[in-house]
Amino acid sequence: MSIKAVIFDLDGTLLDTLGDLTGAVNAALRRRGYPLLTEEDVRQRLGNGVRRLIARSLPEGADDGLIDACLADFQAHYDAHLVERTHPYAGIPTVIEGMTRRGVRMAVLSNKYHAATCRLVAHYFPGQMAVTLGERPGVPRKPDPTSTREILRLLDAAPEEVLYVGDSDVDMQTARSAGVTAVGALWGFRSRESLVAAGAEHLVEAPEELITLLDRLQLDEACRAFEARGFTCTFCATAAQAADYLTTRCAGKSVAFGGSVTLDALGVYDALRDKADVHWHWKGDAGITSGDVYLTSANAVSAMGEIVNIDGTCNRVAGSLYGFDACYVVCGVNKLTPDLTSAMRRARTIAAPLNARRLGKRTPCAVDGKCHDCRSPERICRAMAVLMAPPARMRHYEIVLIGEELGY
Ligand code: SF4
Repeated sequence: MSIKAVIFDLDGTLLDTLGDLTGAVNAALRRRGYPLLTEEDVRQRLGNGVRRLIARSLPEGADDGLIDACLADFQAHYDAHLVERTHPYAGIPTVIEGMTRRGVRMAVLSNKYHAATCRLVAHYFPGQMAVTLGERPGVPRKPDPTSTREILRLLDAAPEEVLYVGDSDVDMQTARSAGVTAVGALWGFRSRESLVAAGAEHLVEAPEELITLLDRLQLDEACRAFEARGFTCTFCATAAQAADYLTTRCAGKSVAFGGSVTLDALGVYDALRDKADVHWHWKGDAGITSGDVYLTSANAVSAMGEIVNIDGTCNRVAGSLYGFDACYVVCGVNKLTPDLTSAMRRARTIAAPLNARRLGKRTPCAVDGKCHDCRSPERICRAMAVLMAPPARMRHYEIVLIGEELGY
């Protein structure tokens, strides 16, 4: 199964909230003359909701009435100051952007009360989370799986299609109880040992490693899926390896290139000039519509083994379907999406607007980066091809996946 969605814990995973939480706890303690806590003290008391945080912060023997009164003071202070010292961990914005570009949907599940959770997400990640749930009256909090299952339903995702990323033993227990993959974040509030003991299946030292982990899981899945459909699938860790591989495979042949920022970046055309009969309209050559090899990229490939391309002139779509003995589709890992729906969405909402801007088209997407399904005479997306299996008349069809981000 490919990964369609990631659920994040909030405090200690996406956001470093320790400063503002400590300020609010100490506001409640100060009012009653109790000893104040350090950020480290508060860190040790987190993970089971705000009421437990307050209960653990008061002197032993505090009754429910005192806890409730302090909780009210905490919330009043926190609501007024919750975005003062809080900030996303370094690397988190890159992760959010990387997940978005890969068509992976995201959600937040926190044991912080729902109103504050929503405010923080709206402030730091506006429009980026498909679902946000905090602690709500009448709903058991983590590690109970109820809210995780609610998110799966809202995202239309099966447990095996979801990663749960959190920094605490409660998060790992939550993931395991809901049957989703538990990923322990080591930059947060808990130790490696406690995450492993609670069932972490993967550990990441820094936020950016989440993208690496996601890509590894998706690439493995995608290669299996492509091969099952009859494609050949090759993985190259770097762009340089891919360029060498393609140059070797194409030497001595007649080779046509589809318009592709990825192929341009690889430098395959120049590498083949003395080794093959190359044709690329981007380099001023006359194009050919038949020959030994067609080299192209894709706007998206799905981890289910489908290739999606949008075209305006439609020469690239045509060459990738008919007229050549073999076709190689070269694709950076940033174009790998969980399924066909997200691949088509990526082609339409990410690749096409970026290409319209690159080409200087006067389309609405070139202005604001969003697709408006325009009727512009300069519209660049006029056909969308979804390749589900190698075309019958092609002898060899290969997808070359590259472990680097390339092209749009
Ligand atoms: S339909 Fe128009 S607005 Fe949408 S991506 Fe294509 S050119 Fe841009």
